[in-house]
Amino acid sequence: MDLDFAQHLNAEQLRAVTADDGPVLVIAAAGTGKTRTLTHRVAWLVLEREVDPRRILLLTFTNRAAAEMLARADRLVGGHVGGLWGGTFHHAANRMLRRHAALLGYGPDYTILDEDDATRLLKACVAELGLKDKKFPKPPVLAGVFGLAANRDVPVEETAKARFASHAVDVDGVLKVHALYGQRKRALNAMDFDDLLVNGLRLLREHEPVLASYQERMLHVLVDEYQDTNKLQSDFVDLIAARHRNLLAVGDDFQSIYSWRGAEVKNILSFRARYPDAQIFKLEENYRSVPDILEVANQIIAGNPEQYQKVLRATRPAAVKPILAKLADGGHQARYVVEKVRRLLESGEVPPGQIAVLYRSHYHSMELQMELARARLDYVLMSGVRFFEQAHVKDVCTLPRLVANPADSLAFARLVEMFPKVGPRKAQNLWKDLGEHLNLRDAAKRAQLAELLPADARSSWQAIEEKLFPTDANDGAVLDRPDELVFRFLEAFYNEFAEDTYENARQRLEDIEELMAFSARYKNTAEFLSEMALLTNLEAEINRNKGQPADAIRLTTIHQAKGLEWQAVIVLWLVDGMFPAARSLEEAADEAEERRLFYVAVTRAKDYLWLCVPRLRKARDGGVMMCAPSRFIDEIDPGLLQIDKAGGFAATPPRWTRWP
Ligand code: ATP
Ligand code: MG
Repeated sequence: MDLDFAQHLNAEQLRAVTADDGPVLVIAAAGTGKTRTLTHRVAWLVLEREVDPRRILLLTFTNRAAAEMLARADRLVGGHVGGLWGGTFHHAANRMLRRHAALLGYGPDYTILDEDDATRLLKACVAELGLKDKKFPKPPVLAGVFGLAANRDVPVEETAKARFASHAVDVDGVLKVHALYGQRKRALNAMDFDDLLVNGLRLLREHEPVLASYQERMLHVLVDEYQDTNKLQSDFVDLIAARHRNLLAVGDDFQSIYSWRGAEVKNILSFRARYPDAQIFKLEENYRSVPDILEVANQIIAGNPEQYQKVLRATRPAAVKPILAKLADGGHQARYVVEKVRRLLESGEVPPGQIAVLYRSHYHSMELQMELARARLDYVLMSGVRFFEQAHVKDVCTLPRLVANPADSLAFARLVEMFPKVGPRKAQNLWKDLGEHLNLRDAAKRAQLAELLPADARSSWQAIEEKLFPTDANDGAVLDRPDELVFRFLEAFYNEFAEDTYENARQRLEDIEELMAFSARYKNTAEFLSEMALLTNLEAEINRNKGQPADAIRLTTIHQAKGLEWQAVIVLWLVDGMFPAARSLEEAADEAEERRLFYVAVTRAKDYLWLCVPRLRKARDGGVMMCAPSRFIDEIDPGLLQIDKAGGFAATPPRWTRWP
């Protein structure tokens, strides 16, 4: 089959695609066709050079990205890229480890611990070592430290000391947890995500014949988003490519946004030093965005002084200017976004799947998720957990669920397992003893539960019961007001529980406040729950039916939006302290990374871009505070933006009022 490569590519892209064997680096800014070059290189190798696809290794940032690229390459060559190894570093390492696990002392059927499993195991280790002190770092924090150490390939001690420099944390304890966690994983024949990389590399380093076989096999190694590789990953690539030296890396130092997870931009900057004979290609024409959006992107990144400056030239004709939306607060922002999305959809010009809302941190999306739910607009969440599926939201919905359905054993188990000394088995027995039924309106039944619970748990339950039924009148009217029900549950029990359980308890409690406001709109508990269940299942339903992403708008953190593009992009919460994030304002290097993140956000947009700047946000103490617009907004020439004061919208009305 003939493919006219010159027709699909510009001259520089074509040169990179058809380059001779040997190391190749394509370093270029966003939207210049790096990924497209990579895809065409695969097609070129298979079609023109008749390389067996099984001898090509394509490393991408997500497995989805690999699947998409392979599908595209497959279309280009008319089938037959089958057998090509494509996916993330974790994916490739896992594939090798499955074959050779025994060499490292694992069984071939080792399990992979997901984040949740890993956190649970860590929690058990902390408890076993008797370190469960209020000041001792919580499991997710520990996981972060261990992960960073693994990915940077430095000792845990060093990482822990740096991370906890300003806290009085028992670093010895942290090391003990790390050791025990390692033993436990071994005993379970399990690896967490970081172990996949660490062990994958060990496999190659310590077992010469294995290394030799992969080096021989992988005639070509191609890597996308190279700027975000960490030490383990670049070593992995260097090792595998060492024999044939056919390594094609593409990346953009402007878009290096994972240093917090150990990524090292120096991997791309020192490529030439490691491969002195490398051919280097630079792409400068941007095919993605309209000129005004590009102009904004160029200005943003110019604010980062210490970098190899490159410009983006637009190839597309001029269109509408990016919009700076000045909004009252988070609620206003959510309504504004819903309104804009509606208008885009009504125009018929932009399909739902071509609209993306991006944000710095997952929690920035919560108010919008609620507003979309109210507006009955479905959305696909590309990162993080959907609002209604978060642990704390499920926790506080246990009582409403039992009210609506006294036979809901799952809600019951979730409720009592929050109490001290009640685990899954105990919960099961309690449920049996209760006759698999707990009608909260029935005082005798409530008393029976109290009777059955162990002492500590009983006081938790009794505190809740007292709040729900302060007088003995047993009227149960509160049970029909989901917002009030949740509020009293918080006061009696959950506020304290959350503080003890979650590192970001304040955040989670804010979500719950949001949930109460949402639930207050429903006539009764049952109606609220059925609406919620519907919203929770919507996406799963659509995905199940079509086996592909739903045609709905996308919500995602910027980190997860890397490499992707949409016709319309809306960026939320551009205020100092949120974007850039407060933590990053202390160090210049971190601020520079935040700026790159903003650059990534803006360069995802093809045609339309909104930058949202609310003036008020909720403060940690529950009040509100004024916010300063993001410093990054100030760096953009105001003439490049259209200001939308969004005057047609009122600030958010009071959220919800206490029941008289
Ligand atoms: P990012 O840095 O965001 O990952 P990228 O450099 O990988 O971007 P691509 O995603 O490959 O850029 O390309 C951006 C868009 O421009 C895509 O829609 C792509 O199909 C299009 N494009 C790239 N090169 C050309 C070209 N020569 N002719 C037409 N369209 C092109
Ligand atoms: Mg790309």
